[in-house]
Amino acid sequence: MPKKTTISVIKCDVGSLAGHHIVPKPLLEIAEKRLEKAQKQGIINSHYVFHAGDDLELLIVHEKGEGDPKIHKIAWDTFQEAANKAMSLKLYGAGQDLLKTAFSGNIRGMGPGVAEMEIEERRSDPIVVFAADKTSGSAFNFPMFRIFADPMNTAGLVIDPNMAGGFKFEVLDVMKNEKVVLKCPEETYELIALIGTTERYLISRIMRAKDNIICAANSTTKLTLIAGKYVGKDDPVSIVRAQHGLPAVGEILAPFMHSYFVEGWMRGSHWGPLMPVGLKDSKCTVFDGPPRMVALGFQICNGGITSDDEGTPLISDLFDDPAFDMARREAMESAATLRRMGEFEPARLSAETMEYTTLPQVLKKLQRRFKPA
Ligand SMILES: [Mg+2]
Repeated sequence: MPKKTTISVIKCDVGSLAGHHIVPKPLLEIAEKRLEKAQKQGIINSHYVFHAGDDLELLIVHEKGEGDPKIHKIAWDTFQEAANKAMSLKLYGAGQDLLKTAFSGNIRGMGPGVAEMEIEERRSDPIVVFAADKTSGSAFNFPMFRIFADPMNTAGLVIDPNMAGGFKFEVLDVMKNEKVVLKCPEETYELIALIGTTERYLISRIMRAKDNIICAANSTTKLTLIAGKYVGKDDPVSIVRAQHGLPAVGEILAPFMHSYFVEGWMRGSHWGPLMPVGLKDSKCTVFDGPPRMVALGFQICNGGITSDDEGTPLISDLFDDPAFDMARREAMESAATLRRMGEFEPARLSAETMEYTTLPQVLKKLQRRFKPA
């Protein structure tokens, strides 16, 4: 059996300051300390702690495969300790994503978001990790379609013979908890028909059609369906593999040259323009937004992340680049247009989605006053 390497990105909103803004330093330090310890013990090979707005993000590289109880336990314990610290500091929403109390072997379905990908290392394996705040898993539908199915975005689909067979998309119906696999280019229109409905369908995985190698893995948590009520947005993470018969890193980043609309933003109840940002701007401010996304680039090397001589992982902050200034400006222009509309659709999400928020409580008061017209 060839040696395999697993990339796990596990995230959780454990509490933030001020309001839903950023993960403060003491919580990041807890995560760093815990993962450093796990690395010293040889359980994991590399780690990188960062935050996407109010979400604490753990990037872990190891050789234990996807869904490994040991790895998930490390993440769960880290989030628990960070949430306890958040509580003692009276941070906002302390422990809000930890929906279950007892760990049962897998962190999926317990609140935190998970994206994992097990790969057989190639000669060189460039990876891009995306993490977003104030939005939901479907925020990846549009860019993933463009990266892996749109020849107007990805030149490789046209000129790289290794990509000629296209890609397969696993799509999750979050309402029914069912999945379906569609192949592009043959089923491009059907794929769009599904994933264009972003409130219900999410792309969960993407494989290269000719050999089924994994190319992208997205988190698909739907917190509302776990908790049965609004408990915050399912701020998503994604792992994408690049080059050598897969989209180039530049093709993976190209969809973010322009802003596009995602659900989330204030109280998880509004359409908002996605803004790609560097780590230094990974914080939501205006109307708790606009929804932001960071992108980290790195190389996988012998079961870990390529590191310098001191063992510090070499990570590139991909959206920290003037090339995305245009998207950021577009995002603010769209944000202004939407906010001028206040609580009128389409600025606010559809009535169907609002069912999972606090809006029905407000409308309930009016029920008895309605008379036949
Ligand atoms: Mg968040």
